[in-house]
Amino acid sequence: MRRLLYVLRALLLAVGAGLAVVILTLPPNPRDLGQLGLSLLDGRALTDSQGRQAEGNPGWSPETLPATVAGAYHIHTTRSDGSGSVNEVAAAAASAGLQFVVLTDHGDATRGPDPPRYSHGVLVLDAVEISTAHGHYVALDLPAAPYPLAGEARDVAEDVQRLGGFGVAAHPDSRKANLAWTDWSVPIDGLEWLNADSEWRDESWPATALLFLRYPYRPAATLMTMLAYPERLLARWDRLAATRRVVAFAAADAHARLWRRLEVRSFSMPGTLRAPSYESSFQLFALQVQLDRPLTGSGPEDGRRLLDALRRGHMFSTITALAAPARFDLTASRGTVGVRMGDEISAGSPLEVKARAIGPAGTRLRLFENGRLIEDGPAPVLTYRASGHPAVYRAEVWLPRRRREPAIPWIVSNPIFVREPPRRSQASGDVPGRTASGTPAGRAGADTGTGTGSRGPVLLSTRKVKWHVEHDARSAGRVGRGGAGKGLTFEYALGPGPRASQFAAAATDALKRVDTWRLLRFRARASRPMRLSVQVRQPTGEVGDRWTRSVYLDATAREVTVRLDDFRPVADAPPRIPTAELQSLLLVVDTVNTRPGTRGTVWLDDIRVE
Ligand SMILES: [Zn+2]
Ligand SMILES: [Zn+2]
Repeated sequence: MRRLLYVLRALLLAVGAGLAVVILTLPPNPRDLGQLGLSLLDGRALTDSQGRQAEGNPGWSPETLPATVAGAYHIHTTRSDGSGSVNEVAAAAASAGLQFVVLTDHGDATRGPDPPRYSHGVLVLDAVEISTAHGHYVALDLPAAPYPLAGEARDVAEDVQRLGGFGVAAHPDSRKANLAWTDWSVPIDGLEWLNADSEWRDESWPATALLFLRYPYRPAATLMTMLAYPERLLARWDRLAATRRVVAFAAADAHARLWRRLEVRSFSMPGTLRAPSYESSFQLFALQVQLDRPLTGSGPEDGRRLLDALRRGHMFSTITALAAPARFDLTASRGTVGVRMGDEISAGSPLEVKARAIGPAGTRLRLFENGRLIEDGPAPVLTYRASGHPAVYRAEVWLPRRRREPAIPWIVSNPIFVREPPRRSQASGDVPGRTASGTPAGRAGADTGTGTGSRGPVLLSTRKVKWHVEHDARSAGRVGRGGAGKGLTFEYALGPGPRASQFAAAATDALKRVDTWRLLRFRARASRPMRLSVQVRQPTGEVGDRWTRSVYLDATAREVTVRLDDFRPVADAPPRIPTAELQSLLLVVDTVNTRPGTRGTVWLDDIRVE
């Protein structure tokens, strides 16, 4: 009995010591900068709303900073694999002091987004996270898609753009190969420079166990210890930004489910431990979006303005668990023309690039030019005289690092792009990336380079060329002849029910008569918006090796050009296409982009390889 007491006491001591260690290894409380901002507010309103500085005045005031609203982006609810309802997410955001959230439940974009609305005083925006063959793609401001968006990353990105959405490459740093974004040749609109979910997946098992113990004491501080400076990813962003606008987001990727890495496959715990909670995720870091004027309280109006600001990259990311509130701005000006982060300014005469931040003593501002650190100075103001040549400028704010705090900047800005030549006036109300209508005819899936093959084109749609239909047991198809003896009509009906690899294809074996070709061209339209999988097949093995290129079709007839170089292997087919050994050309409708039970018609004309 006495021995048992000894053991119990020892156990209690051990637990107590363990807890003490756990608490002691937490980073200190975040710095509360509420007072700091006010102390600098001594009536020196020295810059105007354009970020221009009044002559001879070196100072500035936080009052002159644009109106910023804080929010969280990349959140899952019970509509996909999150644990909280939309209203619970909004309530958590409200208690974390946020003004907006961007929901990104998994989906194929056929469900239209809910209209922006307020819940618990928080503006709720709805978006979708689409799974592509090369990683996840978050689409903002996207209407309901006419067919499931899926397949290759380049095709999903093209569809998102055609539909007027804004696409963000999700968690490029994820260790999970099937989640991480991998196709950097795709013209993405944005990327996630920081993703909390990926950071957690990076931790070792013992570290995760320790996090579990610490978490109840100071949730956000515990989560913060896992953050790391994603140097390679930021370098990737800098390289991309040199050629195109790419807006960077800090992504909460909040699910509020039992630490996902601890989950057992296909085992879901009733009343799941809701950790990390939405609220602690929201206290970890935030997006700060710059608006021209404060939010009004009207869901539709505020939603529109917020989405436009996100598209324009009028925002920065801040690690709230280090310090709050974040007061920051990055501007560039030349004479009376001023732009802010996310904007473009035309190349020309020298520019003044200015970063401003309010932080505790020892706060440093760092300015990067084309990814290279060019200035590192104390807050609150850093001014750099730039050549005015084409370049990309972005800034980071680093706080004096306290013990146990991660080496990560407090603030990461979006860039200012100095570009040449100017497309149009910077002052225009044009929102980047938001085009009124779809891609022009002929753009579908390939460029329209003129092929000067060594031989003339070989027509594959004349009456002499035989076509047949291939389909699975549930689906059906029919190939008919169109007008003028050159055309082809392909009617398809995918089998109903759950997805079970239903497909229907119009096929010809005429490719075996053609030894070399580089381009496949045809004119086509479809009874409904769709993606047609153009495939070439070599007759090896049971099903043959296949390569595919997906093209978009709708009711408007268009010239489609597909380069052989652009085909990608299906399943285990080798990357290199043995052109001379190809036998079949297939025009396939399958469940990648078509729902089971769908029927329709494709009209094709003048199908030729050259
Ligand atoms: Zn994802
Ligand atoms: Zn996600």
